[in-house]
Amino acid sequence: DAVHSSWLELSAAHLRHNVAAFRALESSGPTPRALGAVLKGNAYGHGLAQVLPLVHAGVDVLYFIAPRDALTVRAHEAAHGLPARQVLVLGAVSPEEAVVLAREGIDVVVADRSWADAVPGLRAAKLPRPLRVHVHLDTGLGREGFTADQLPKQTQFLADAPDVFETVGVLSHFANTEDVTEQGYALAQLDAFETGLAHLTAQLKPAKPLQRHIAASAAALVLPRARYEAARVGISLYGLWPSPETRLSARLVLGELPVLKPVLSWRCKSQVVKWLPAGSYVGYGCTYRCPEPTRLAVLPVGYYDGYPRLASGKAHVLVNGRRCAVLGRVMMNHLMVDVTRAVSDERPVTATLLGRDGEESVSAESLSGWAQTIHYELLTRLGSHLRRVVV
Ligand code: PLP
Repeated sequence: DAVHSSWLELSAAHLRHNVAAFRALESSGPTPRALGAVLKGNAYGHGLAQVLPLVHAGVDVLYFIAPRDALTVRAHEAAHGLPARQVLVLGAVSPEEAVVLAREGIDVVVADRSWADAVPGLRAAKLPRPLRVHVHLDTGLGREGFTADQLPKQTQFLADAPDVFETVGVLSHFANTEDVTEQGYALAQLDAFETGLAHLTAQLKPAKPLQRHIAASAAALVLPRARYEAARVGISLYGLWPSPETRLSARLVLGELPVLKPVLSWRCKSQVVKWLPAGSYVGYGCTYRCPEPTRLAVLPVGYYDGYPRLASGKAHVLVNGRRCAVLGRVMMNHLMVDVTRAVSDERPVTATLLGRDGEESVSAESLSGWAQTIHYELLTRLGSHLRRVVV
């Protein structure tokens, strides 16, 4: 493999552990609920091609934004003789894409009235079965979905075209579950969700009760009322807490804190290790000057790969289980770290940018915090060109 590169290691055992932890949570109530994995954003940067085979057997539903990603599930199932999982495209879908998805038995979200215009085209496409749709209700996020005002007028087209649409589900998304420990806003969203659901049920008279889903990781962990028939778990399946507040609340709500195990590590080999004399500058802008002779490792990783430039001057990586400060500015394809105390010669080193090395670890929360962002953004910006290895 290319020398000038870093790689991501995905722990299959940790992913399975997290799936099992949520499975236990979802089966703890009186009725078992479906466990869904959110695989959008290239499986939160972990790599869809690597994650899909690891989670397919353990979850009931798979959620995507892009239709082309959803279609990889059916290809994977066909290639390995696996049963078809429920798949839902959360993102916007064109009428042409809807025809392909309907043929593959993949569910879509109807979030606005534009779908009414697609009815003639979908009818002309002579679908083998109606398109399975989930109606998105905007209960307070102010993103996609029908607001209370728009119901039932704007959803009448679904009732009028049962040959084209089979409404199988209803969903919404929380605005403020992970930033707080007090869930008042979420509870109001739940009330709005249930009111909207009552309108829809009266209007559409579905043959089977609609599959209701609103909980992402945080609500699945701390808001039992939000669990309904399915949960859409993203960040926490990858072993991360949505926020410190969620962790705090979970301790109160669940009594015992579930153990989540981070799935991803990011490592690289050094490009060069060398001494710089005291007084030398490191990096663009000469923002760092070595106060003493410094053994420097140049790492072949930069912001092109997703290592945030804003972390310059704050971040550290791990070498031989020791923290090594990132010196000067993070560059497009390089970063320089101080390995003076981590190694005793100039042989190449392996550095851990994210994950554990010995007693130390760098969490996605830490690295994103140094860069003044959130772990969701950090992970989904990891370059799709990085090699991903399941370990
Ligand atoms: N459901 C929807 C509609 C989302 O947009 C997201 C993520 O942004 C999720 C579920 C998963 O959220 P989380 O990663 O917090 O579990």
